[in-house]
Formats: sequence, structure tokens, C-alpha cells
Amino acid sequence: MSKQKPSATPWYETANPVPRTRKTVTIIGAGISGCSVAAALQKRGFKVTVIDRHGQAGAEASGNPEGIVYPKLSPRDDLLPQVNLAAIKFASDYYRPFWDSGLGRQCGVLVVPENDKARSDFKLISQRYADQTEMVETIAHEQLEELSGVPLQAESALYFPKLGWLPPQLICKQLLELNNIPLVQADIKSLEYCEQQKRWQLYDKNQQLVSLEGDNHSESVIIASAFDCKAFSQTDYLPLRKIRGQITQLPCTEESRKMKMVICGECYITPAENGLHGCGATYNKDLFTTELRDIDHQTNLAQITATDAGLAAVLGQPTSDSLSGRANFRCTTSDYLPIAGPVPNRSAMLEDYAILRRDAKTALTTPGAYLPNLYVNCGMGSRGLSYAPLTAELLASEIAGEGAELDKKINKELRHAMHPARFLIRDLKRNRI
Ligand SMILES: Cc1cc2nc3c(=O)[nH]c(=O)nc-3n(C[C@H](O)[C@H](O)[C@H](O)COP(=O)(O)OP(=O)(O)OC[C@H]3O[C@@H](n4cnc5c(N)ncnc54)[C@H](O)[C@@H]3O)c2cc1C
Repeated sequence: MSKQKPSATPWYETANPVPRTRKTVTIIGAGISGCSVAAALQKRGFKVTVIDRHGQAGAEASGNPEGIVYPKLSPRDDLLPQVNLAAIKFASDYYRPFWDSGLGRQCGVLVVPENDKARSDFKLISQRYADQTEMVETIAHEQLEELSGVPLQAESALYFPKLGWLPPQLICKQLLELNNIPLVQADIKSLEYCEQQKRWQLYDKNQQLVSLEGDNHSESVIIASAFDCKAFSQTDYLPLRKIRGQITQLPCTEESRKMKMVICGECYITPAENGLHGCGATYNKDLFTTELRDIDHQTNLAQITATDAGLAAVLGQPTSDSLSGRANFRCTTSDYLPIAGPVPNRSAMLEDYAILRRDAKTALTTPGAYLPNLYVNCGMGSRGLSYAPLTAELLASEIAGEGAELDKKINKELRHAMHPARFLIRDLKRNRI
């Protein structure tokens, strides 16, 4: 059990829910967060419209040619690895139809320890997750080459047989196309709630009301615009950061072509596809360009060759002019967990729970104040492919009112760890706001 007990104050319950009678939902953002929640709602009978400023799905962070369904386990009893395990379990089933249809590959992900600390952590992880061998197992050095196809030098590694890689942009497109979900091009600047009609209105950068499939209103709205959630007054309080990343595609060699699975260490590398390996990705906090940089390609190559000497040997030394890639921005949160759920009415919540500033242990009975039928799904960090299927399912279950079903899918403590109001409650208790 985690040490972080849920608060007795029901801040996560909505004080005055506004009934949903029309089942119309508009989603801002056609990345993996927006498209997966769109599909989950459409399957539940909602009339969904997705809006993106590019007019196409997967044009920003979710636009890479490949992405890894990446694990993040830990020997510690923290919420982050617990959420990650729930997410990768869900994702491995979620993506199976895509893998079966030939998109990406469920080839397994092998994680090689980067240093002594990781080596000792891996031993503890394999003990801790000894009952989860269908998700993670330890592979001894002697078996590594046969399993991975690469003469790895590592003493041992963690193997996730149900994970693999996917082309995120194609997944986004298919989620919309296969579910007949319309995509409207608009750059949304603001959202306003119309009390009279009990619906939301969306305005573009010219202050024009955005038409949604012949209607100008939407009963529910989900903001899935990654870092640009900060551009809306309702979600500008979220502690998001924009972090640039660049991936590198490099030509395979005779030897590296034998690689059978994704190998991760200081960074990741995918098995060759059409003669190319995908490798990445860099982290730049203060750089806001999507232009490719040779220095970042060199960083990726240095990191992947530092991961394992046997891997470095099969990759050879690709020339700069043989490298290609793509750069974009992750949206990370202050606690590295994604954000999925209803958007708090910040000022009302701060007033209702003001006493927490003085006494964090006070247990109030007042449920949380939330904006009517407004939700957010963002903060996927470096693991959007892992987290988005689960957060989409949770949000869709919540919007569809599947309370009991939701409890079976994931425990409340983990849901609260991803809740949009957690930052306000935390900051109130620390007397920071
Ligand atoms: C280089 C790199 C490598 C990565 N590798 C991996 C990996 O291997 N595995 C993994 O799981 N994750 C990886 N990630 C992270 C992953 O890409 C993200 O977590 C994920 O794509 C986030 O999806 P999203 O839908 O939240 O955001 P996005 O894909 O950025 O989608 C947000 C969408 O909102 C739209 N939008 C924003 N504001 C507005 C507005 N005002 N009006 C209309 N539309 C708007 C944007 O146009 C965009 O399409 C990587 C990221 C980078 C940058």
C-alpha cells in the first residue's frame, strides 16, 4: 500500500453535477490524448467532435513515426509506478488490434540498466513484481542475445513481453477514422459557459464562435491540448512544462537488422523497419524550436551506444547525412503523473477549502466545486502512449456515469493521483496558494 492516504475530504466528488441530456462532447486537441478519449466516448454513444488547430490528427507531440509503450516501474511503493503498471497493462490490450493490423509491433521491450543504481533497483523490481511475470520478467545475461537478437553485454535486463512500439500519428488518425469522428480545424482561444443553455461555447483566435457540426454549443468539453491547456483561463493553473524532444532515425546494419525488440537504457531504439531504427529522445527544457539539430542526433547516438557495448557494436557509426528525425514538445506535470478528470472551479474550491491552509488535516464534508461538464486530459509527459488509453477510459467512464464499473477498473487512490484538482488540494495543505 502507498503511504499517501486519500484525504477524508471528498474534494474529488462534484458538488452540483449538471445533468447531461444531449450527450454531445467537443474535444480540443487531436493528439493521442484527444483521439483516445474521443473513441472511448463515441463507443458509448456520445456525439463527439474533435477540434485541432492543424485540421489533422497527430500533428504535434503525437506525430512521431514511432513511439514506445514504455514502462516506469520502481522498487518503491510510490503512486507513479502503480499508475504506470495499471496503464501499461491496459495499453497492451488496447493496442492489440492495431498491432494485429500491422501498425507497429508488439515485439516486447527490454530495459537494460543504465548504471549501478538501476542494476540494484532492477533486482528489487523483479522481487516486487514477482507475481506479474506476464508483464515483467528478469532475463539473465546468458539468454539476452537469443531473446533480443543483439549480443548485449548487460548482466541482466527487465523484459516486458506485452509492450512494443507504435506509429502514434497513424494511431490517432485511425482512432478518429474507424469511429467516424469528425475533425474540425480551429485554433481555440477561449471557452465560455452559457448558463441559460447549460452548454459551452468555443471561440477561435478571431473571437468567432466555432461551429460544431451545425451547432454552436457543446454540452461537455474536454481540453486535451497538451501544454496549451495553459492558454485557457479554466486550466491555466495546471503546473505544466513544455519540454522539447528530438528523435533520430538511423540506417540499420547487417547485424542490427537482427534486433527483435525495443531496447531501452539511456534512451530507446526500435527494431529496424524499412531499413531504419528509431532512436530517442533528447530532453531540452529551454529550447522552443521544432527544427532538427545535428547536436541532438549526436546526443541520441551517444546515449544509445552508452546503453550497452554489444548494442553499440551492431549499430556501427552512422554518418550525419544518413540521419533523419523529428522534434516536438512533451507536456510534463510537476509530479510526472498525467492529468485526467473534471476541471475544478478554482476560486470556489480555494474558498471552500481555505481552512486546509491552517490545518491540512481538517476533514471537511463539502464535495468539490467543479466547472459544469468541463474536463481535461493532458500531462502525458514522455509516456503518452502508455497513459492515454487508460486516462481516456477513465474519463469516458466518468462522463458516461459508469461509477461502479469505474471502481472495478482502477482504484480510487490511483484515480485521485491523476485528478486535475490534486494540485490545488496539495498547495492549499502546504499553504502555498
Ligand atoms: C521527441 C519525442 C519522443 C517521444 N517518445 C515517446 C515514446 O516513445 N513513447 C511515449 O509514450 N511517448 C513519447 N513521447 C511523448 C508523447 O509524444 C506525448 O506524451 C503524447 O504525444 C502527448 O499527446 P497529447 O495528445 O497529450 O498531446 P499532442 O499530441 O501535442 O496533442 C495536442 C493537440 O492539441 C492541439 N491544440 C493545442 N492547442 C490547441 C488550441 N488552442 N486549439 C486547437 N487545437 C489545439 C495541437 O495541435 C495538438 O494536435 C515523445 C515525445 C517527444 C516530443
